[in-house]
Amino acid sequence: VQRQTDTTRLSEEIMARCDLLASFSEEVGALTRTFLSEPMRAVHSTVRTWMEEAGMQVRVDPAGNIIGRYGASTPNARTLLIGSHLDTVRNAGKYDGMLGVLLGLAVVEALHEQSRHLPYAVEVIGFSEEEGVRYRVPFLGSRAVTGTFDPALLELVDEQGVRMYDALSEFGCNPSATAGAAYDPNGPLGYLEVHIEQGPRLAALEQPLGVVSAIVGQRRVRLRFIGKAGHAGTAPMTMRQDALVGASAFVLEASRLAKGVPDLTATVGQCDVKPNIVNVIPAEATLSLDLRHPDDTVRDSMFEQLAAKAQKIAQEHNLALELSPASEQGATPMDERLTRLLSDAAGEATPVLVSGAGHDAMVMAPFTPTTMLFVRSPNGISHHPDEFVLPEDVQAALETLLRFMERLEAAHAV
Ligand SMILES: [Zn+2]
Repeated sequence: VQRQTDTTRLSEEIMARCDLLASFSEEVGALTRTFLSEPMRAVHSTVRTWMEEAGMQVRVDPAGNIIGRYGASTPNARTLLIGSHLDTVRNAGKYDGMLGVLLGLAVVEALHEQSRHLPYAVEVIGFSEEEGVRYRVPFLGSRAVTGTFDPALLELVDEQGVRMYDALSEFGCNPSATAGAAYDPNGPLGYLEVHIEQGPRLAALEQPLGVVSAIVGQRRVRLRFIGKAGHAGTAPMTMRQDALVGASAFVLEASRLAKGVPDLTATVGQCDVKPNIVNVIPAEATLSLDLRHPDDTVRDSMFEQLAAKAQKIAQEHNLALELSPASEQGATPMDERLTRLLSDAAGEATPVLVSGAGHDAMVMAPFTPTTMLFVRSPNGISHHPDEFVLPEDVQAALETLLRFMERLEAAHAV
């Protein structure tokens, strides 16, 4: 007879560990922990101890990812990867990234306490870099694991003038091997990431957990409305070519349109007005537009609609319009089979939602079947010290993961 796993104790331990890891920071009184920093070294030594206590063999790969391996019950078995990142933004919360690593670790602890091994190995990965703070390039850890780390990145220099190559060497890694750090594509059984939602949807639904169906793709463009400068007092209202008035009409239109399409977000975050003088009619207004949706065809079609609308608005206001692309990233659907197992494990009531933010899972998904679980952010706040999670939600996530492991075991046996 198997002993029941004490998920209350394990989830309390996860909360305490999040608190402890938050104390390893580059700043006094705030949590900032970037790629290969001194506090990351302290985190590694602490996480290594926890992993070893949970019966894992620990290694640090050439990109500075810490990986604990818990062997399978049979030789030559495949490996399930569970992880998230250990780096943070500046003045971060305690749970973004760390929660996913510590939940993976707790799953292995639960197995180890019962001296149980599964027909697949489990590796818990703490990615070294996800946020893109130090070298302004995100997902360095998961890129290395998936073999998509471009060696040219090693020449990037941080604000202090430190080359990534030297930072890796200094950390004890072999930077020349980053390209070869990757897993064999046939090795992993899949990748599972738990992450805080970082938004208000689960809180609004009063649900502790959500299953992620896809990570949204995004398209960014710049729209430059061009009119004519003029005197704020002498140019009659009916004879103006006010670029900002046209741009403003577009901002309202983008918001109106996006509200009518489920899962679509449209954000104008920047507006650059020229000449930007209090008594001069704006001659130019340049807007940024960030458009996101989990389905690439929907996003493309909404973009076409918005571009046509911008053109119409420009004409109505007697303005010229220049539209230039800034960046584009396709949507990343999660693996159907693993996501079904995760949904079953989480229970019927668990909502399925899309992720509006990028995660390591986005880099992992093209490489190995990937699935993702969100934990409610009670105040919807993230990338901020007020970010938090409820202990009972963490417990619900842990219990879901344990059921997922069982279901994967059953599916694996077939
Ligand atoms: Zn994160």
